[in-house]
Amino acid sequence: MAMTDNDTSLASRHARDALRALVPYSAGRDPDTVRRETGYAGPMIKLASNEGVEGPFPEALAAMEEALSAARRYPEAGARTLQHALAEHHGVGAGEVLVAAGGCAVIQHLSSAFLEPGDEVAYCTPTFHLYRLETLRTGAKPVTVSVDAQGVYDLDALRAAVTARTRLVYVCTPNNPTGGLIKREPLRRFLESLPRHVLPVIDDEDYPDPARVRRVTDRPAVIVRTFSKIFGMAGLRIGYGIAPRDVVEICQKVQNPYEVNRIAQAAGLASVRAAAELARRMRTNRESRSRLAAAITALGLKPLPSHANFLCVRVGNARKVARALEARGVIVRPLDAMGDPASIRITVGSDAEHRALLAALEDSLRTGAMDQ
Ligand SMILES: *Cc1c(COP(=O)(O)O)cnc(C)c1O
Repeated sequence: MAMTDNDTSLASRHARDALRALVPYSAGRDPDTVRRETGYAGPMIKLASNEGVEGPFPEALAAMEEALSAARRYPEAGARTLQHALAEHHGVGAGEVLVAAGGCAVIQHLSSAFLEPGDEVAYCTPTFHLYRLETLRTGAKPVTVSVDAQGVYDLDALRAAVTARTRLVYVCTPNNPTGGLIKREPLRRFLESLPRHVLPVIDDEDYPDPARVRRVTDRPAVIVRTFSKIFGMAGLRIGYGIAPRDVVEICQKVQNPYEVNRIAQAAGLASVRAAAELARRMRTNRESRSRLAAAITALGLKPLPSHANFLCVRVGNARKVARALEARGVIVRPLDAMGDPASIRITVGSDAEHRALLAALEDSLRTGAMDQ
């Protein structure tokens, strides 16, 4: 029998049923691919993946250089030094911190640990696409309701979607891709209204102090955090969850003990205490975002109010507009995979990147690329 026939039939016969309908995560397109496809010869600008404008903190760069020379050694198992530093920073117990290869890995571990076929997972749409993929991967069922008109998670509708089979409820704030932020009091009421068989997962990519959710409610909940965005380390794959001790312990059972590499652990540790640099970047992001929103509004478009490092803009046919912008050297994210085929998401970038984006947008508008 031919080798390829054998391989194909093996996967189609024995791969898990839940995986058959699963379409892999659709990431922001990379500049080299886009350049090849479009033939655009100028500099290619990527505002498609919410990466931080600046790279790793200076303290993190220095720590990584030092860690490189020790690369023959395995990293610290369970990233214990970083785990303790994060716990101290957030005022929680060390056993309540799960260090993982990005916020995505925290979400994957929660799915592996808690979901079985037939379980339900509730969240709003459009939202972070991984919730859907991870739910389907385990054979569980996504149950979704729409965000409100401002792009904020609709907590009343979400509460109503919870059933006796619901295991996890995702709350994304500010919501990726719309940017809407949930206020503290509605969040408290929502969390406390949830039945005890549901574990809420607050995917919180903005709050400078995630421990504040602890002060909002005593109810067990998971808070997911990343080093990818404002800390400028998306390429290193590091993030963490703050969760009740027993949830952390269960997740560690499904996690590779050396999941987070030595370089990333060192960079994370050096970044945790750099409060002044974090505050400066948050201010810069806020200011750049409002300048960008004003400029896009001046072109006659209406970005949703955003509390994150991106803007969501309704354009009509998102794929078509994204292609038109790519042909002009700017990559943004059409939101069809996230459940909104009419909008694009634009990452907040540098002033020069914004100038290029605005020129490309204006040109696309003029040449009718945005008509349906
Ligand atoms: C960026 C992001 C994450 C985590 O990304 P990692 O790079 O895996 O840390 C998780 N959730 C949301 C909503 C995000 O925007």
